[in-house]
Amino acid sequence: MNLNDPSLFKQKCYIAGQWVTAENGKVEPVTNPSTGEIIGYVPVMEHEETLHAIEAAQRAFQSWKKVSAKERSNTLRKWYELILENIDDLATIMTTEQGKPFAEAKGEVIYAANFIEWFAEEAKRTYGEVIPSHKTDARIVVSKEPIGVVGAITPWNFPAAMITRKCGPAFAAGCAVVLKPAPDTPFSAFALAELAERAGLPAGLFNVITGDAVAIGGELTKSKVVKKISFTGSTAVGKLLMAQSAPTVKKLSLELGGNAPFIVFEDADLDAAIDGVMVAKFRNAGQTCVCANRLYVHETVYDVFVEKLVQRVSTLIMADGFTDGATIGPLINRASAEKVQSHVTDALEKGATLAFGEKADSSTNFFPPHVITHVTDEMRVATEETFGPLAAVFSFATEDEVIARANDTDSGLASYVYTRSLQRAWRMGESLEFGMVGINEGLISTEVAPFGGVKESGLGREGARQGICDYMETKYMLMGGL
Ligand code: ADP
Repeated sequence: MNLNDPSLFKQKCYIAGQWVTAENGKVEPVTNPSTGEIIGYVPVMEHEETLHAIEAAQRAFQSWKKVSAKERSNTLRKWYELILENIDDLATIMTTEQGKPFAEAKGEVIYAANFIEWFAEEAKRTYGEVIPSHKTDARIVVSKEPIGVVGAITPWNFPAAMITRKCGPAFAAGCAVVLKPAPDTPFSAFALAELAERAGLPAGLFNVITGDAVAIGGELTKSKVVKKISFTGSTAVGKLLMAQSAPTVKKLSLELGGNAPFIVFEDADLDAAIDGVMVAKFRNAGQTCVCANRLYVHETVYDVFVEKLVQRVSTLIMADGFTDGATIGPLINRASAEKVQSHVTDALEKGATLAFGEKADSSTNFFPPHVITHVTDEMRVATEETFGPLAAVFSFATEDEVIARANDTDSGLASYVYTRSLQRAWRMGESLEFGMVGINEGLISTEVAPFGGVKESGLGREGARQGICDYMETKYMLMGGL
């Protein structure tokens, strides 16, 4: 890996401000999903190291919570600046371990940094309130306090941003974090920790451990010291962590799977809708939890929409993330590519039509972008998140029908609607049972808005003012006898 600052590439975990190896001496390789080459090795940590990290976090929390909001804010601001100063190296690490095109990786680094900037600002605005008292000789004061030590578990699809949108608000609020990044993308996490240290984050406040997910997750959820789990990943693991957190009644932020509908009405600006699909479906090779999974297109514009879509999809360039002009990188691993293939095969067997898509080379993790049409609700892609570059186009006839079909899922993360009717836009915005609705827009993620889902897509919100509230407890004090 060609870095301007090679010291950003760490192969050790970060506990209590020290770069450390596993007590068992074990390491495991991390591979580049594009080439299959081993990039480096990370420690395989288990129970003991997790406990050390939790203890370190608890110690750091005791002092950090007393640091003034302005000072916490200044430290975070410095971290934000260092991330941007090192954008090329961070993007290089990211493309190498995750595969996304270099330009997209740079975009993610900026997006990731923005969470730190936003929460550096919010740190100073965690206002409480004074409530008019029910007694003349008493006063009621409500304040916000940091929740304590947070266990954060993150996925590989956004190796930097999923970390900063948890750590930014946590540190801003006065909390400490033990982070377990995804095994596929640990090096972005280590680089962020190195920059956090340079920014002046105190030792122990931010701990990063890799290794046995079950052991680490088990200790984090079992611990009485850890007061909150913040997880982004699959719905299955989210439910498991929720169950494991029950005995200690932990606070939870869960950002789980989606199955986003993308609805195009007959009165929509079709070119704008195609622009929207390209980001909502093909960004990160379709590996985002807000990816459009089900494209519902009104029957009267179906054929022209498909024609335009195929034309645009044919301009995508699938290549190694460091290739100039690449717009689609590899999927994270072979199993992901096989899952997309299984959705295509299942749909074609049940009567769908392949409108676009080259055959995948099954010896690599690359999966060429596909468009399938005449997709029906009986096909797997209707109910399962594909998490890959497959655009599945369904047709619909009426507004009521498409609302019912769009809502017919246990997931409720993102949804998208294209229409030129103001009345319909509002009706749809209010009828869709999703935490987020993009109206005439395919890119809804930003640090200034509350990101999160309803139903089985999760709990809590990340970003915006709500993002820091999720790391704080409300305390009410009654001052009596006045
Ligand atoms: P994905 O399908 O995106 O890999 P996962 O939910 O499996 O989703 O992974 C998201 C994160 O959860 C990763 O950091 C992974 O290592 C972690 N993880 C997986 N299984 C467990 C578990 N049993 N306990 C704690 N963390 C887990």
